[in-house]
Amino acid sequence: MKTSVIGYPRIGSLRELKFASEEYFRKEIGAEELLQTAAELRKQHWNSQKKAGIDFISSNDFSFYDMVLDTAVLLGIVPKRYQELKLSGLDTYFALARGYQGESGDVKALAMKKWFNTNYHYIVPELEDDTEISLSGTKPWDEYEEAKALGIETKPVIIGAYTILKLTRYTGKKTAGDFVDDIVTVYQDIVKKCKKDQIAWVQFDEPALVQDMSLEDIALFHRIYDKILADKGNCKILLQTYFGDVRDIYQELIRMPFDGIGLDFLEGKETGHLIGRYGFPQEKVLFAGLVNGKNIWKNHYEKTLSVLKELKDKEIQMVLSTSCSLLHVPYTLQYEEKLSGEYKAYFAFAQEKLLELKELSELADQTSCQDNPAYQKNRRLFAGDRNCQKQEVTERLSKVTDQDYTRLPKRSERQALQKKVLGLPEFPTTTIGSFPQTKDVKANRSAFRRGEITREEYVAFNQKKIAECVKWQEEIGLDVLVHGEYERNDMVEYFGEALGGFLFTEKAWVQSYGTRCVKPPIIWGDVYREKPITVEWSVYAQSQTEKIMKGMLTGPVTILNWSFPREDISIKESISQIALAIRDEVLDLEKSGIKMIQIDEAALREKLPLRKSDWYTEYLDFAIPAFRLTHSGVKPETQIHTHMCYSEFTDIIPAIDDMDADVITFEASRSDLQILDALRENHFETEVGPGVYDIHSPRVPSVEEMVRALERMLTKISPEKLWVNPDCGLKTRGVPETDASLRNMVAAAKEIRQK
Ligand code: GLN
Ligand code: ZN
Repeated sequence: MKTSVIGYPRIGSLRELKFASEEYFRKEIGAEELLQTAAELRKQHWNSQKKAGIDFISSNDFSFYDMVLDTAVLLGIVPKRYQELKLSGLDTYFALARGYQGESGDVKALAMKKWFNTNYHYIVPELEDDTEISLSGTKPWDEYEEAKALGIETKPVIIGAYTILKLTRYTGKKTAGDFVDDIVTVYQDIVKKCKKDQIAWVQFDEPALVQDMSLEDIALFHRIYDKILADKGNCKILLQTYFGDVRDIYQELIRMPFDGIGLDFLEGKETGHLIGRYGFPQEKVLFAGLVNGKNIWKNHYEKTLSVLKELKDKEIQMVLSTSCSLLHVPYTLQYEEKLSGEYKAYFAFAQEKLLELKELSELADQTSCQDNPAYQKNRRLFAGDRNCQKQEVTERLSKVTDQDYTRLPKRSERQALQKKVLGLPEFPTTTIGSFPQTKDVKANRSAFRRGEITREEYVAFNQKKIAECVKWQEEIGLDVLVHGEYERNDMVEYFGEALGGFLFTEKAWVQSYGTRCVKPPIIWGDVYREKPITVEWSVYAQSQTEKIMKGMLTGPVTILNWSFPREDISIKESISQIALAIRDEVLDLEKSGIKMIQIDEAALREKLPLRKSDWYTEYLDFAIPAFRLTHSGVKPETQIHTHMCYSEFTDIIPAIDDMDADVITFEASRSDLQILDALRENHFETEVGPGVYDIHSPRVPSVEEMVRALERMLTKISPEKLWVNPDCGLKTRGVPETDASLRNMVAAAKEIRQK
């Protein structure tokens, strides 16, 4: 049996691409050097796949920022304001991704959104009415040739036309339908070029097919692919799907002349049934996604082989594949020196998954695997006890009652009371929590980690930073202060490290967006809190000011969603365990005199099922109550904030209101404030701080710009409910731009108060 990898991580096993790109942004290296680093990485990635014996290796899965943006650029979808900057190709690309402020002009970045149900963010392409769509690049073929020159035959991967049309924002009067023909023409050109270059297989990624599809959607898909497939000649086309099953269009897909269809057997609950019910054509190749591209647990060989056997019995031609791109898992266990072998035995990162693919494909070809050492080893692993349960945790959870999920009195009463006791001005200004993580902050943390400084020295340094940060915020004139989060590497890892039940890696980075990577903890066992986590920092920070200091926690849903979850218990159960641990922290903060507590649920939307029909029955039904469990025990006057990022949550507004927080801040500046209408329509009760400026870009917003944003917000949000804040934490920003932006923001709030 042959093997296929949908896509490989690209940031570099030691984040080489991140560092090189950032050097390039700071103008410390030139384009030449950046391109060279990129080529070197691609070579490594292809070589490790080749060495592992993978048959279908992808090319064009590399990206300097994001593969959706790459595709948009390839199709010529570049809004005029970026073209007018007249920058080089590479710099125009980065301007689209990050915004640009300099000699050539001043433009914001394009919007960024979560890629389906992952923590990866893609750049949202923008189509203007007069955009001329045409094949505008050679990246897929350049990279194909590059691999070929290394002796490696690859399948170029390109995001498919249907998914691109679904993800694009249409800024003018035209809609998706108006662009289909032009886009299809470009995809035809793409196929033509592949044909000419004698490329054997092209992979079109169409994850949008796993969402609910209407009849119009299906018609649109036909309109696109009937044409593309008509003149593909002997260039084989693999339609690749992932993150779920394609129940709405399966019967169509198997009738269309695709040469291969890639299906996800892990997240696709219905995949097996679909094949059972409707069959799979013998002339096509099924790329069976059975090695998890999203989680880090070893593959259960026995289970996988039984699925493969069933398919084989149906005489289906098969290639064993990952379930999605390996982009979503770290590179390799190889650099994990601290994690003991006992634990590591259970994990497989990207590189180790290559070996799994290979072993499984060989096992699948054997009539009996019983004597195979790899098979036996895997079986022993899954037969053993991982020793990860804690009885106190399950017991406590079983005693949680309905009351524990309800905060009293009701929100409107709390809001009136809080207005009185907190004494804040109209349109209170605040930030989301973190302040710039300057070199000294990171150095302090890593020196402490490495044991080079004592705990006293570590604390003293952070206290000094906190005191400075408090002064700085007072000077800027913010109303509600934060301590700056200097003790945190990452909002989830920090809590994971302090809680029982988590495991950590040293180098297991996963790309989140652009050059930003995260190192998700692994939920190994039952989760519990051993002792207070953030209290000492918040209390110290509060001691430095008369103003209100906001306590800062990460919520249970986000902690789970940004960790690698267990596969032996349900997500619901893990989230509830974490909620109880965070509840303890909330109550301890309150007891220590903290009057306002923010519980971030940045990633609330992430595990929202891709099909709407599952939203309230398979996720929100437990995620929202878990959030309420964290704060239902506080006094009425303690103000609970929450924060969400990049979330399009227009469609789950009632659920967000149902979290029963007093205030929510969220990303809005990059999504054109569309969410505000929806808030009003849904009679949103929670006070809101839609971000007035974008912190994902170094650009400094002007006072006028933010006044305008606030005025627009005030047309939809009643004045007593509006907060003024940036759209996310400031940790990735530099000090000068943070200072300038926040001063402008405070000035904007003052101006609005006067009006
Ligand atoms: N409190 C966190 C911070 O300010 C929130 C980060 C986030 O939403 N991603 O960094
Ligand atoms: Zn955020």
